[in-house]
Amino acid sequence: MTVAAQFTRVTHPAPVPAQRRQEILAEPGFGRYFTDHMVSIDYADGQWGNARVEPYGPLPMDPATMVFHYGQAIFEGLKAYRQADGSIATFRVDANAARFQRSAKRMAMAELPAELFIESIRQLIEVDAEWVPPAGGEESLYLRPFMFSTEVGLGVKPAGAYKYLLLASPAGAYFPRGLKPVRVWLSTEFVRAAPGGTGEAKVAGNYAASLLAQQQAAEQGCDQVVWLDACEHRYVEEMGTNNLFFVFGSGSDARLVTPELSGSLLPGITRDSLITLAADAGYPVEERKVSVEEWRKGVETGEITEVFGCGTAAVVIPVGSVNSAAGEFTIGNGEPGEVTMALRDTLTGIQRGTFADSHGWLRTL
Ligand code: PMP
Repeated sequence: MTVAAQFTRVTHPAPVPAQRRQEILAEPGFGRYFTDHMVSIDYADGQWGNARVEPYGPLPMDPATMVFHYGQAIFEGLKAYRQADGSIATFRVDANAARFQRSAKRMAMAELPAELFIESIRQLIEVDAEWVPPAGGEESLYLRPFMFSTEVGLGVKPAGAYKYLLLASPAGAYFPRGLKPVRVWLSTEFVRAAPGGTGEAKVAGNYAASLLAQQQAAEQGCDQVVWLDACEHRYVEEMGTNNLFFVFGSGSDARLVTPELSGSLLPGITRDSLITLAADAGYPVEERKVSVEEWRKGVETGEITEVFGCGTAAVVIPVGSVNSAAGEFTIGNGEPGEVTMALRDTLTGIQRGTFADSHGWLRTL
């Protein structure tokens, strides 16, 4: 049986009316509205089965379901983009499928085969294609695959049953009024992840653990938290739900540095893509440790000219200023830099089909 044939489809009896859908697509925001359907696949007795495309809706769950107590829960985030010819393409979906498997492994959960992950996305896009915003803008359809333990019981152990679900939500431009550099807060009180912990997996608990520091950042008038290493609070790891890049020098002498994959930061797919695109553009890229001291001094001497975060949601976010208990400093003139903008234009152009996809990252499903 082909993977596609394993899916049963139950269409929504009362989908969102076309006019209301158009209103939502005109101003979708992020994660506020969901398409008419979702995909569900169950794991039990050592196998995946019961793959369904069904109406989006609530889940009845036993209060003793293990995920509520011991938190075996992982997720992914990726986007589908409408192309100029009307087709719909995903960006590096295989990389998300592989990371989802690595996250599952780290949490002692069942691994969803990559073909099922990709087919679930194809199925949902097929049934909810009208929810993918039109080509030409910065809008997309955000896809949220996730999985949690469904076994019922209070014994602490890896569950024997899991549910995989896929939701889709139209997403507006991250910066609807133009790219605005963010002010970041260096968190020295809290850490996101420690060596040997779960930082390099996309697990729900990492996000729960990050919220208090994010709240603290907001109280300081900052938009995002920058996480430092757990041991010395000295090396920069990542920023909120974004990886970081530092631009040294400018013009044809510019080079990029990004924190190395320490085991406690998330290996972002945008990060990986930008490393490749920067090299294509002739910028040398180094993956290594970057200390807060190097960041501050580099900005002071003018050696560091631009800093930006990157992730699926925003693609590229320029960092304007850095705030911490030790004071604040501004990067360059606080405005988005040239290298930041060039890399952003290239990557968003590939995603929207206006730049050549020379690495074969788009997949029309
Ligand atoms: N770091 C964290 C902690 C994240 O949640 C994300 C978003 N997935 C990223 C980095 C960026 O990863 P990606 O480029 O794959 O979206």
